Amino acid sequence: MPYNELRKDYLLDRWVVIATERSRRPTDFAKPKPETAKTAICPLCVGNEHMTPPALMLYLKENGEIIKSQDPPVGERPKNWLIRDIPNLYSAFSPPKQSEDTKKILINEVFGYAVGHHEVLIESPNHDEDPADAKLPQLELLINAYVDRYRELSTKPYVKFISIFRNYGLDAGASLSHAHSQIIATPIVATTIQEEQKASKEYYDHHGSCFFCNLIKKEANGPRFVMENDHFLVTTPYASINPLEFHIIPKKHVQNISALTSSEIKGFAETLQASLKALKNLVNDPPYNYGFHQVIGNEAKDCYHWHLEVYPKLATWAGFEKSTGIYINTVQPEIAAESFRKIIH
Ligand SMILES: [Zn+2]
Ligand SMILES: [Zn+2]
Ligand SMILES: [Zn+2]
Repeated sequence: MPYNELRKDYLLDRWVVIATERSRRPTDFAKPKPETAKTAICPLCVGNEHMTPPALMLYLKENGEIIKSQDPPVGERPKNWLIRDIPNLYSAFSPPKQSEDTKKILINEVFGYAVGHHEVLIESPNHDEDPADAKLPQLELLINAYVDRYRELSTKPYVKFISIFRNYGLDAGASLSHAHSQIIATPIVATTIQEEQKASKEYYDHHGSCFFCNLIKKEANGPRFVMENDHFLVTTPYASINPLEFHIIPKKHVQNISALTSSEIKGFAETLQASLKALKNLVNDPPYNYGFHQVIGNEAKDCYHWHLEVYPKLATWAGFEKSTGIYINTVQPEIAAESFRKIIH
């Protein structure tokens, strides 16, 4: 019997066993969709705006134009929105109540207050308009809203990192089924980002070029290539810890999404939609999470390169994974990429 492969992540200090012997075809994961309990009233649907806190940002459709606005503090809230960004009612991080509070954020190395922001971005007035099936202009609006919120939150002095993420499906942690993303701005930099940044800097210092820029060149013709367009490349990482995990990487070297152009937004929306649709078709609409990896400010300008990581929720991590941080992935990233390519092209 041949050995399984032990692979180390290209940036993180993390190992995965690629179980070639017990390997599964991506389609083996397809299972009937669980019946989701239909809640009587969706607080994120049009007409229920009063069930949430007032929107921090709205894209309204008025006379064929899209304008940016906010809910008024009192009175009638607009119903003609295309995107609606609201504070999370159960926020993990909350804004400083007084300006002095920003000094209390990190009391010392091991204790601080969870000052920051936690927002729910309602992606569409249509309950089921998830990215895999969204109309492309609506998906472009969503990406534009990510950029808008990122720009605003990153100017706050106490914000050191902004996580933009999406949970899809009950098993992936989405408690509301209406299409939505979340944004959490934190006063600390997430450990994974710190580790990626450190490793990217070491790579840069050693090679004089960006790890991700080189990765794009290498993966474009390799067995883990999924798809590309003028602005983005989609690939399955060499040491994926999730079956069918894929990353979307911009071809332009830049450390965060704050300066995305409209054609880049369009290019991103196209790759995001095509790859999520392929995942949906391959495995019968599985739950997934995605999250942006990016850094604020210019410190990592030369060495860090933003990207989106998509984690299909197809495996259950149990005792071994939880107690060791070593993972077992039963789908080879090369087979995952091949399956995606067959569906996309
Ligand atoms: Zn809804
Ligand atoms: Zn780069
Ligand atoms: Zn990453």
